[in-house]
Amino acid sequence: MEIKKPSIVYRHGSGLYVNLTNRCPTACAFCVKKPWAMNYHGNNLNLAGKEPSAAEVISLAAAAWAAEPFSELVFCGYGEPTMRLDVLLAAARLIREGKAAPVPAGLRIRLNTNGLANAVWGRSVVPELKGLVDAVHVSLNSADPEQWAALMRPMEPWAADGFEKVKEFIGEAARTLPETFATVVEGNGVDLEKFKALAAALGARPRVRGRLDDEEKQ
Ligand code: SF4
Repeated sequence: MEIKKPSIVYRHGSGLYVNLTNRCPTACAFCVKKPWAMNYHGNNLNLAGKEPSAAEVISLAAAAWAAEPFSELVFCGYGEPTMRLDVLLAAARLIREGKAAPVPAGLRIRLNTNGLANAVWGRSVVPELKGLVDAVHVSLNSADPEQWAALMRPMEPWAADGFEKVKEFIGEAARTLPETFATVVEGNGVDLEKFKALAAALGARPRVRGRLDDEEKQ
């Protein structure tokens, strides 16, 4: 079987998605990367340890735009994008500074995340996203800490206070960034009403999505 070259950027819907890393601080029970053998709709998202630089991402985004413009750039691959926060911020900054032509400086930029960046980096990273990222979609998945741990399967040392850190991240994002969604995968025995109430209490909009969602993977 032919193995395709790893995709650093790939199209999905009307967006261009960026696959920054295969590393994650979670091993989510609903993740499709293993059952789908690191493939996503014909794209090989296995970077095989070769993580791209910001310059590479921008060069590929510019070429993709020249071939056909896209509606948004989405940091979302088979891995948690904020594990490479510096590269994510640098790539977004190059766009905002008009250094990614023909990609427009005002392009919508979205981050799909499991929300553990504050825990991973030991600080609040949300202020660093301001002015660069327009929207964050956070895979919260439950209003219950034990259920969250069972679904997200966080790795040490992020397991103990991970749920609280994700809630903190969502609350800060909702206060700081233009658009914050808290997402939940349906069909996992989650109390959706409690989930929606928690999302609202944190200031985020709730979004319920299918298990193998065709629109988003995080
Ligand atoms: S769903 Fe996303 S965050 Fe969870 S293990 Fe898979 S790639 Fe990582």
